[in-house]
Amino acid sequence: MVLWFCTCCGNLLKFVQHPEGNRFACPTCPYIYKIKKPIRRRTYFEGPARETVIVDTESKWMGVDSTDERCPKCSHPRAFFRQVQIRSGDEPMTQIYRCCNHECAHTWRID
Ligand SMILES: [Zn+2]
Ligand SMILES: [Zn+2]
Repeated sequence: MVLWFCTCCGNLLKFVQHPEGNRFACPTCPYIYKIKKPIRRRTYFEGPARETVIVDTESKWMGVDSTDERCPKCSHPRAFFRQVQIRSGDEPMTQIYRCCNHECAHTWRID
């Protein structure tokens, strides 16, 4: 329980129920302190995060491992691979591959 004191005269304010909102009122002067309604829980806007977007930059493929994975485009037998979190953090990682043939550089993913 928080005690409120009148800023005018220093008296202890009295709790008053009022249809326009409960308030504390000073017993000796017109000072009132309106109690704000409790702040509602925020609902977070769910943005376009659900879209599957692979942000693919050359630097992300620096020093990654390659594996025996055939490129579906040029049939090169090896592909670089790395795991990315495409969606939100609690969903499983997605394996994405990139063809080892630099002229092809095809990128694909396996969920
Ligand atoms: Zn007062
Ligand atoms: Zn390829």
